[in-house]
Amino acid sequence: MKPLSKQRVLVTSGPTQEPMDPVRYLSNYSSGKQGHAIAEACAALGAEVVLVSGPVSLPDPEGVKVVHIQRAEEMLAACLVELGQGVDVAICAAAVSDWRFEEISPNKRKKEAGVERMSVTLIKNPDILEAISKHPNLRPKLVVGFAAETDNILEHAKAKLARKGCDWIVANDVSAAVFGAEENTVHLVTRSGAIEAWPTMSKKEVAKLLAERVGCKVLLKGPLSHGER
Ligand code: C5P
Repeated sequence: MKPLSKQRVLVTSGPTQEPMDPVRYLSNYSSGKQGHAIAEACAALGAEVVLVSGPVSLPDPEGVKVVHIQRAEEMLAACLVELGQGVDVAICAAAVSDWRFEEISPNKRKKEAGVERMSVTLIKNPDILEAISKHPNLRPKLVVGFAAETDNILEHAKAKLARKGCDWIVANDVSAAVFGAEENTVHLVTRSGAIEAWPTMSKKEVAKLLAERVGCKVLLKGPLSHGER
């Protein structure tokens, strides 16, 4: 039996795009490489994987159900549908846009002669990791978030873990380039305060190691209770 057999794993990946009008959007440089690699690695260990992905130029991983979304609100809705069908482990690797446009113009916003300035109002997007972690009755046994930090990485990761209510945080240092890169240098921070510094490795290797860690947690410990996360 593979370590993640009988486990349903939800992975979020890629950026979200928040439209302003039919031709413009707010987004970020996320490539989806890390999230997609995690989905693949969990499937290789026997999990039934659902990947909720923003727009990326990567192919859909083999043997994985992929739900394509554009906006953060769509990503949240898709994740809630999957939670409703039972999720054992959620891994939120998506770079969700923190903000969206308050108004989405149905028509392309035009330049006007003599107008040199334009104001838009952005409103806060839902936090998907937090919504999954704090779900009153459908919370997965293990919820893993990511943190991209430029300084005080571990302090920020611990604070994020507590604030969002997840079990583990994979913290990476983005002071060096990470978006779109093939390699990643991460720390795994757990709710119990354990910190593992992983050497620099490819995103595929990070994914494999993370999937193995999840497998150990699920296989050796059985159902996770709050106290032992
Ligand atoms: O707050 P911050 O964006 O640094 O948190 C990063 C973690 O939270 C990642 O796991 C990311 O997928 C998740 N997140 C989310 N929804 C948001 C913002 C972040 O799921 N709106």
